[in-house]
Amino acid sequence: MTPKYVIGGNWKLQILRVEEAVSIATAIAEALEKLDLGTTEVFIAPSYTALYAVAQAIKGTKLKLAGQNMYFRDKGAFTGEISPDSLKDVGCEYVLLGHSERRRIFGETNAQINQKVKKALEKNLKPVLCIGETAQERKDGQMEAVNRQQLAESLADVEPEQLSNIIIAYEPVWAINNPFLNPNVEIKTATPEQASDAHNFIRAWLVSTFGETAGSQIPIQYGGSMKAGNCVDLLALPEINGGLIGGASLSSETFMPIIEAALGQMKK
Ligand code: PEP
Repeated sequence: MTPKYVIGGNWKLQILRVEEAVSIATAIAEALEKLDLGTTEVFIAPSYTALYAVAQAIKGTKLKLAGQNMYFRDKGAFTGEISPDSLKDVGCEYVLLGHSERRRIFGETNAQINQKVKKALEKNLKPVLCIGETAQERKDGQMEAVNRQQLAESLADVEPEQLSNIIIAYEPVWAINNPFLNPNVEIKTATPEQASDAHNFIRAWLVSTFGETAGSQIPIQYGGSMKAGNCVDLLALPEINGGLIGGASLSSETFMPIIEAALGQMKK
């Protein structure tokens, strides 16, 4: 069975007002209603403060909701953190974990991400586990080693039968449109060849670690400056099962063409 497609919009710290978040989410949800998504899933990850209002606005539509991060404990004296139970309470189905901005700007480790992955699974939230190498690591020939380590340590103690609830997002750091992550690097989308190599490597690791049945069904998204102009070639690759999109997910006009491209590829 081929993995389903999953398209996610990561709004980061870009849409600051609840009213604006609701308006964009509503436009995306309305556009989605006109499409036959089949098994494809689409989610957005607004700021925490907008989650509840967005959840109300998109209730009953095809658009799903994700948290951008969470803590690995349920509750307690942990100032500034967000509980998986709170994400569930406002209607999140997914949670982004280990995004490179969390890893590189906020110092999150694979061990912490592993605790979060296990907690999300326990709480019935689908973790979107983000992995990816920096430009320097790729230049040093470490692409496979870095991604292998992030996968192995972030998925430690996860059982094969839990895998159907996990999504992997391969996001090479050098392709993410973020100058803080890439101070001296020309930011550009991975070529289909580069993405294909990495996705095949990740798939092979998943299959060899978790077995053919579990390992071959996890969606592997590509993320990094994906937009209307470059998504068709990437999404045409059978090894790319969707996308995690930052900048281009911030409006219905820029996000919908990517979703439509994914659906077009699925029909081929
Ligand atoms: C991301 O940060 O997940 C991402 C893919 O961002 P962008 O599309 O803006 O490069």
